[in-house]
Amino acid sequence: MQPIEHLYLHIPFCPKLCPYCCFYVEEGARHKNQAFLDALLQELDTHIAQRPVIPRTIYLGGGTPTSLLTDQLEILLKGLRERLPLHQLEEWTVEANPATVRPEKARLLKDAGANRISLGVQSWDDSTLKTLGRVHSSAQALKTLETLRKAGFEAVNIDLMFSIPGQSAAQWEAAVMNLFEEGFLADIGVL
Ligand code: SF4
Repeated sequence: MQPIEHLYLHIPFCPKLCPYCCFYVEEGARHKNQAFLDALLQELDTHIAQRPVIPRTIYLGGGTPTSLLTDQLEILLKGLRERLPLHQLEEWTVEANPATVRPEKARLLKDAGANRISLGVQSWDDSTLKTLGRVHSSAQALKTLETLRKAGFEAVNIDLMFSIPGQSAAQWEAAVMNLFEEGFLADIGVL
């Protein structure tokens, strides 16, 4: 039987709902986190019982997986490592919001085997971040990038949004140019 090789795990919790969001997400809801993680691992067990699961890629998305408390994130990562053979794993991505990544969470993710972070920066402009209802500032995004680098993540993708109400073409251009200035991109061809 062909094994399942690609896993997407949705963690449907965020500190605050962004007004443009169209994913299934619950705001706050800390009291539901543990029950959800238990159910998620239980469902994974059900799949494993029916068909081998030998992941080449894992994507922890949401929602905001990094909004879990550190010990809950640890339970999730430990639960995944206990259940999944990771010898064929090529990429393990975790979505993160800049406001929710502390050094200990970054280290936890790295130690568990995650090797790519998808960071929801969205904009380098604080007034645009306010329009978007984001809970982080641009300074926090830069700090989080530094935290991720220190934890050893070499692959970090940055989400940036454009065509935001009130956003000028010059602001978008500045957002892209900032990627060069901060040393995230060496060549426009990377885009
Ligand atoms: S952080 Fe992402 S998933 Fe969460 S509410 Fe905002 S857009 Fe939706």
